[in-house]
Amino acid sequence: MTVITRFAPSPTGYLHIGSARTALFNYLFAKHHGGQFLLRIEDTDRARSTQQAVDAILDSMKWLGLDWDGETVYQFARAERHAAIARQLLAEGKAYYCYCSSEELEKMREHAKANNLPPRYNGLWRDRDPSEAPAGVAPVIRFKAPQEGETVIEDLVQGAVRIHNSQLDDMVLLRADGTPTYMLSVVVDDHDMNITHIIRGDDHLTNAFRQHHLYQACQWDIPQFAHLPLIHGSDGAKLSKRHGALGAENYRDLGFLPEALCNYLLRLGWSHGDDEIISREQAIEWFDTNAIGRSPARFDMAKLTNLNAHYIREAENARLMTLCQPLIEEKVGHKLSVAEFDRIALGMTGLKQRAKTITELADNALIYVRIVPPDEKAQKFITPAAKILVKEVRQDLEQTDSFTEQDLDTHIRKTAERLGEKLGNIAQPLRVALTGSTVSPSVFEVMAVLGKHESLQRLAAFSEGTH
Ligand code: GLU
Repeated sequence: MTVITRFAPSPTGYLHIGSARTALFNYLFAKHHGGQFLLRIEDTDRARSTQQAVDAILDSMKWLGLDWDGETVYQFARAERHAAIARQLLAEGKAYYCYCSSEELEKMREHAKANNLPPRYNGLWRDRDPSEAPAGVAPVIRFKAPQEGETVIEDLVQGAVRIHNSQLDDMVLLRADGTPTYMLSVVVDDHDMNITHIIRGDDHLTNAFRQHHLYQACQWDIPQFAHLPLIHGSDGAKLSKRHGALGAENYRDLGFLPEALCNYLLRLGWSHGDDEIISREQAIEWFDTNAIGRSPARFDMAKLTNLNAHYIREAENARLMTLCQPLIEEKVGHKLSVAEFDRIALGMTGLKQRAKTITELADNALIYVRIVPPDEKAQKFITPAAKILVKEVRQDLEQTDSFTEQDLDTHIRKTAERLGEKLGNIAQPLRVALTGSTVSPSVFEVMAVLGKHESLQRLAAFSEGTH
């Protein structure tokens, strides 16, 4: 059997971080088993589905490297097929017309509420003769759900979960206007797409019981289910807007790399021993449903940020340049010149050791374009004594043309010795003079990247007070 999974988002907003994890798990499970991962856009709720949301979802999926197999399936386009199945079930006596008015349904709800029962349809038209149908009322088609016994689902994550069939009412399959309901569409689509494993959030667990019976009524194979515990915020409450960014695209805008987010989401509810850094290849090799946790995972921004710092250090400089360039250009307000670009590229190896996000990396790279305005901490180093020290260093450096990190280290140590100063006392004023900031790669590295001309110019500006 070829494993076929699917991700089935409703395009009513961005790709929620929890949904991104669902997509990732479906992707990894399929790839692990050498199968296929399909994408279905569940756009049947016409009022809430938007093209913008579809684009955001597709875009985020591509960004995360969750490439799907085959064409994207759009659920709404298949409505006729869904309706045909409802009519077929009707013809087979497995479904029936229900002519209840909204007042009658409202009464049922009130009655259930008054008796502390879950709101459910009472089967009014289940066994009623169609000849009793009121004139001029367009009926809905309801599914004849079993009322006796219990339904058991062997869920790959939750284990055996059961429900008394008396709890399942006769759900609507086709509305009075002929449009199919979600419950019908999802089953027909999963069957037609040959889905073997349905991996999704456990908010759909109760739907699985109803879907189970629909498969049986259609005499279709029932896929395996794996219902994932939801993601909670760091305070233990269900992840919501107040916990911060929720859409995958927000994380991109905040400067996270897709591989860091994927690695983080993978570990959120799934484990492989103590492994924290897991590449896509390893994930495909190791992923299976048996190591998915049963309790809700907590979203931890600090952990994600640390992983991001790791992946930034590992990333190719050229890729980091591509990501940083627009951010830097926006900050400085001009297109980078070739010289500026080359300088940042040269400094990238040092810069990427210290940045936790791409945004921070771009900020830190600004020192290779211009001196950043000194903050309060840096201001403290702008003293007459510091200006003299910097002037001495500059004068000594004018004598050399070798601006390698190693040679600069030797030269500046010599100047420090000559002046009877500790290197530490010289390094910080130099850093402020060269960058405007108190944090940067080593001053030797910064000067090596800036080159002699620019370095000496910045040192002179500091000593002469034109910073
Ligand atoms: N469209 C549903 C959602 O976005 C998912 C349905 C499913 O996975 O079965 O929640």
